[in-house]
Amino acid sequence: MRFDIITVLPGLLESPFAHSILQRAQKKGIAEIHVHNLREYSSHKHKSVDDYPYGGGSGMVMMIEPFAACIDHLKSERPYDDIIFMSPDGETLNQQMVNQLSGKGNIIILCGHYKGIDQRIRDLYVTREISIGDYVLSGGELPAAILVDAVVRLIPGVLSDETSALSDSFQDNMLDAPLYTRPANWNGSKVPDILLSGNTPEIEKWRFEQALERTRQRRPDLLDK
Ligand code: SAH
Repeated sequence: MRFDIITVLPGLLESPFAHSILQRAQKKGIAEIHVHNLREYSSHKHKSVDDYPYGGGSGMVMMIEPFAACIDHLKSERPYDDIIFMSPDGETLNQQMVNQLSGKGNIIILCGHYKGIDQRIRDLYVTREISIGDYVLSGGELPAAILVDAVVRLIPGVLSDETSALSDSFQDNMLDAPLYTRPANWNGSKVPDILLSGNTPEIEKWRFEQALERTRQRRPDLLDK
């Protein structure tokens, strides 16, 4: 799977993809993540990418030209399944959307900044708009990193134990069960006996019940889906 992320702040996206699971996925050749500096596609003298809003008001608006030039350039090299704009007014990201996106091939992600982007970019180029939640950040870079992280870890071969993604929260509309590791007894606080029993079917049953109880308590809405 290939991601092309278009941003005015490529530096913000260096670290999130350079460690752990995302780094491994790229080294194994399972995921390619390319970050493009929008300024390089500006035809303006000072490489500007934003301008004052028509109609007045505060904040700068990102211009259509540099985005169009970058997207057209990318599209001339390969086809894309989706052009996603990270935006607080998009569909709220959830695990179901992430699962679906992990089956795609090439995706472009646009990061807004300042007040936002010219509506015509959204009308003419964007195929999907995604929000990471009902709050406003200063740019689309962190939301893009969140989206890519959530999707890449689901691509087969990325996680060393492939089944582990399936037992994570939100898969099957359930939260995850409680986790324990050594020591079995820490200052009198003990790991539940069942987990030390070696009885795999009973352990699975216990985990399911715990997950169900946790979901009932914390997110009963998930059980109605
Ligand atoms: N004026 C816009 C907010 C602009 S914030 C509004 O009220 O909707 C600047 C940029 O940050 C946005 O264009 C978007 O790309 C990104 N952004 C901010 N909050 C986000 C969120 N919750 N989810 C996804 N992207 C977000």
